Amino acid sequence: MSGRVMVIGLDSATFKLIEPFMCDGYLPNLDNLTKNGVSCILKSTIPPISPPAWTTFLTGMNPGKHGIFQFVDMDVSDYNFLSNRIINSTLFAGNTFIDFISSNGLKVGIVKIPFTYPPWKVNGFMIAGEPSPDWQKAHTYPPELSDELGKVNYGSGSDFIKYSVEELLKHLQFDSNVRTMVACDMMGKEQYDFFMVVHNIIDAACHRLWKYTDPSCPNYKKSFAKYSDVIRDVYIEADKSIGKILENMGDGTTVFIMSDHGAARKPLHFFNINAWLAEKGYLQFNESKSIKNMLFSLLTEIKYVIPPVVRHMISHTIKRHFMKRVSGLQTSAANIDWCRTKAYSVDLYTTIAGIALNLNGRQKFGIVEQGRESELMCEEIKSNLLGITDPKTGIKVIENVFRREDIFRGPSLEKMPELIVQFNGDYQRAKRQKLPLFSDVNPSDFDYQSGDHDEDGIFIAYGKNIKKGMKLDYAHIQDMAPTILYAMGLPVPDDMDGKVMLDTFEESFTRQNTVGTVKLDKDKKTASRTLTEDESDKIKEQLKGLGYM
Ligand SMILES: [Zn+2]
Repeated sequence: MSGRVMVIGLDSATFKLIEPFMCDGYLPNLDNLTKNGVSCILKSTIPPISPPAWTTFLTGMNPGKHGIFQFVDMDVSDYNFLSNRIINSTLFAGNTFIDFISSNGLKVGIVKIPFTYPPWKVNGFMIAGEPSPDWQKAHTYPPELSDELGKVNYGSGSDFIKYSVEELLKHLQFDSNVRTMVACDMMGKEQYDFFMVVHNIIDAACHRLWKYTDPSCPNYKKSFAKYSDVIRDVYIEADKSIGKILENMGDGTTVFIMSDHGAARKPLHFFNINAWLAEKGYLQFNESKSIKNMLFSLLTEIKYVIPPVVRHMISHTIKRHFMKRVSGLQTSAANIDWCRTKAYSVDLYTTIAGIALNLNGRQKFGIVEQGRESELMCEEIKSNLLGITDPKTGIKVIENVFRREDIFRGPSLEKMPELIVQFNGDYQRAKRQKLPLFSDVNPSDFDYQSGDHDEDGIFIAYGKNIKKGMKLDYAHIQDMAPTILYAMGLPVPDDMDGKVMLDTFEESFTRQNTVGTVKLDKDKKTASRTLTEDESDKIKEQLKGLGYM
C-alpha cells in the first residue's frame, strides 16, 4: 500500500534562525508542523554545500559513492584538483529515489530541486532547479511544459551582484511566488504520489544579507539597522509558501520539510594550512619568479586589495574570457615545488579543507611511499593539526580532522585527499600561498557575501503516520531517500547508504510495515545526455554570480 508524500525543501534553512522566529510568532506554518510533527537536525554532507548535499538527498548515497563533492569534478591525482567539468544531473539521473518511485508506476511532480539540469524523463513532470543555462526559462520534462509555464524567474544568479537590498528582496519574493503558484497549479491538475518543491530564497538571503542582521560582521555599520529583519522576512515568505502548498495538498499526505545544510556568518579569521605545512617541513614553496608564478600571486593577492564588488566584476570579466587558462592556473597552486613537497592543502569549502599527500605512483612528482610512510604521515599531520591554537586568543582552530575513509565509502573515495580538515566556525582556510599563518578577514570581504553554510540542516515530518510533538537528536541527509520510500510503502534499494528514520513514524505504522530492501538492476539505469560546452559555460557564469566559483 502506498502513501502520498510531499517534500518541501528550503535550501540553507537552519533551526538556529527558525526557532527564534517561530517563538516570536513569525512562522505560523513551520510552528504548527514542528509542534504537531517530528523534528530534528539534518546533518549535511562534508563539505556542507548544495552539490554533494542535494545529490546525497536524491540518491541516498554518500559522496564517496555518487562521486559529487563540489560544483566541479575533483581528483586528487591531479595537482589542479578541481577540474573544469561542472556538476549536473547527467552524473546521477536515473539513479535517484525519484526514478525508483517512477519505475514503480507512481506519479511524481518535481519543482526545482537544485542540480537537476538537464531534467530527465520521469513518470510525471520535472522542472529543473538551479543552476541552468537560462534561469528565466523553465527547463522541463516533458519539454512542452516549459512553454505553458512561461518566464519563471525575474533575474538570474549573475544579476544578484548588481541588486540593491530592495531589488534582491523583490526578486526573492517573485521567485518564491512563482514556485508556489506553479506547484499549486500542477497539484490542482493531477494527483501525484510524490510531489516536491525546493525554495532557494533563504540560501540567497543568508549569503548576501547576513551582514545587515549581525553586528559581529566586521563591516557592520549603524545604517544597516534598517535592514535588521531582512532574513526573517525571507523566512516569512518561505513560511507563507508552505502554508499555501499544504492548503492545496490532498488529505492523507505525509509531509517532510528539509534543508540541504544550515547557514552561519562567514568566519572572521584565516588559517593558512600550506604555510603551516611549509613550517613543519612537509611543503616547499617554489622561489622561482616565472611569469606563471607572478601572475598566480597577483591573482591571489588582488583579492585582498580591491573591494569585493569591483573584484567580482574584474574576475568575472577575466574568467569569462580566459576561463580555461586561468582556472587551471589558479587551482594549480603554482608556487609549490612539487618535487620536494610531501603534503599540501586542496580546497573543499570555506570551513573545510583537504590535505593531500604527494604519493609516489599517484601524482606526477609524488615522493611519499604508499603504505607505512603515508600512514604515519597522515596520523602525524592529523594530531599536530588538532593541537593548533590561535596565539592571540588561545582558541582551538581545527574542530576535526578525518581520514577520508572515516566519512566516505565507495569508488570515488580515491579521488579525495587523504585528510579532511574541519575548521572551528570562527576560522576558514586561507587560499593565500605564503605566510602569515593567521590573518583576519578583510572587512570588505563581507560586502558581497557575509553568510556561509554549516552542517546542521533541518528535518520536519508531519501528517499521515507521523508521531506528534516529538524532537529527535539528528538524522543525516542520506536518510531522506530511504525515509521517503518507506513512507510511500516502497522498499529501499540496497545501494542506498541512508537508513529509514523509523523513530519519526507512529508505532502502529512501523509495527505493520517492516523496511523492505530491493536489489536494482544497474544496467537498466540510464543517465541522460552530457552538457554541451555552451551550457556548461553559462552555468559557470551563474555560479560565479552567486559567488560559488
Ligand atoms: Zn544549498
